Amino acid sequence: MDLGGYPPKLPRRRALSAGKTTQLQKHESLTLSVKAATLANDHADPLVELDHLPSGLLDCDAAGLGRFLDGPTLIQLAGQREPALFVSVLMHGNETVGWEAMRRLLLDFDVGGGQRSLPRSLALFIGNPRAAAAGMRHLPEQPDFNRVWPGSELPATPAHGVMQQVTARMAERGLFASVDLHNNTGTNPHYACVNVIGNRYLRLATLFSRTVVYFTRPRGVQSQAMAELCPAITVECGKVRDRLGVEHALELVDACLHLAEIPDTPMPMHDIDLFHTVAQMKVPEDIDFAFPPAKAPLVLSPTLEHLNFRELPAGTAFARCGQGQPPLDVRDEWGRDVTRRYFTCEDGELRLKLPVMPSMLTCDAEVIRQDCLGYLLERYDKHLPPRG
Ligand SMILES: [Zn+2]
Repeated sequence: MDLGGYPPKLPRRRALSAGKTTQLQKHESLTLSVKAATLANDHADPLVELDHLPSGLLDCDAAGLGRFLDGPTLIQLAGQREPALFVSVLMHGNETVGWEAMRRLLLDFDVGGGQRSLPRSLALFIGNPRAAAAGMRHLPEQPDFNRVWPGSELPATPAHGVMQQVTARMAERGLFASVDLHNNTGTNPHYACVNVIGNRYLRLATLFSRTVVYFTRPRGVQSQAMAELCPAITVECGKVRDRLGVEHALELVDACLHLAEIPDTPMPMHDIDLFHTVAQMKVPEDIDFAFPPAKAPLVLSPTLEHLNFRELPAGTAFARCGQGQPPLDVRDEWGRDVTRRYFTCEDGELRLKLPVMPSMLTCDAEVIRQDCLGYLLERYDKHLPPRG
């Protein structure tokens, strides 16, 4: 039987939304027509906006969402209080913690078939369901969805337009707070990130963890764009499929939904460990790297991940390498090359020249190539807003 040209997604969608003409159906035709216009260019998906959870959506795991959603989807759900809490999930398609937490949380509320009404309106942004279906951070033809928000320094793509649209919608309606939920690949504690040092931002962050990282690079991340509108954080909930990460994310969002306000009073120093990202480490594209026993110009330590969030002394080895220029590309916040400030090649090892604390170090070769090897941090407690 020839099924060429048959669109398998439409009948399934119609079955899901049978009974009433839903936003999903209205957007379906919009989606398809805009898609026809953009598909030829670069496979970009336009934003889909809904005012309800399509029935059956909460039964799907992240990989299954692609059966319902073609691309970035903003679902705005009414609750008892305004303005809304903004939560984004699956900005990276293979980081399932956010969707796992939200589908469990929403089952409890009437919008998801439960008993309780939402204590506060919720704007849920499901970033990249197509990458989630493929189990990838992003598809090969897509940019990284957490680098294309307003403020991005990457060349403009249709995905930039989608994030701009989401940000504009949220600016129009006003927000209470914004939480972007992520997993990471290395062995890291759960921690929150802020892009603005302000009492309400830090209070929101410490609802999740006393470990807080302040960063200003890379640009174009969700929390940086949302920080213009409300207290905004990115949270890193440990490795994918870590059950505790899901519970922790769920507790955070539940707490945010129930909060009446986020006070603008200074954080006590002893309630927070604040760090600042001082550099991002990449492996230059023309340098081959490997893990032992494989051979390459750069052989990374297989226990690299265990260095995360440890304050390391100068001399700590990250890898084996040849002599000469350290085979890394380390950039400070302004994009300046600071490789030689932090690293040296000595006795066939890539060693730290200064005491620093790394984060997000990963042994996942794909992530190292697609994103980065990790970050270098220093303590930033002295920059906390003064008390009283
Ligand atoms: Zn992520």
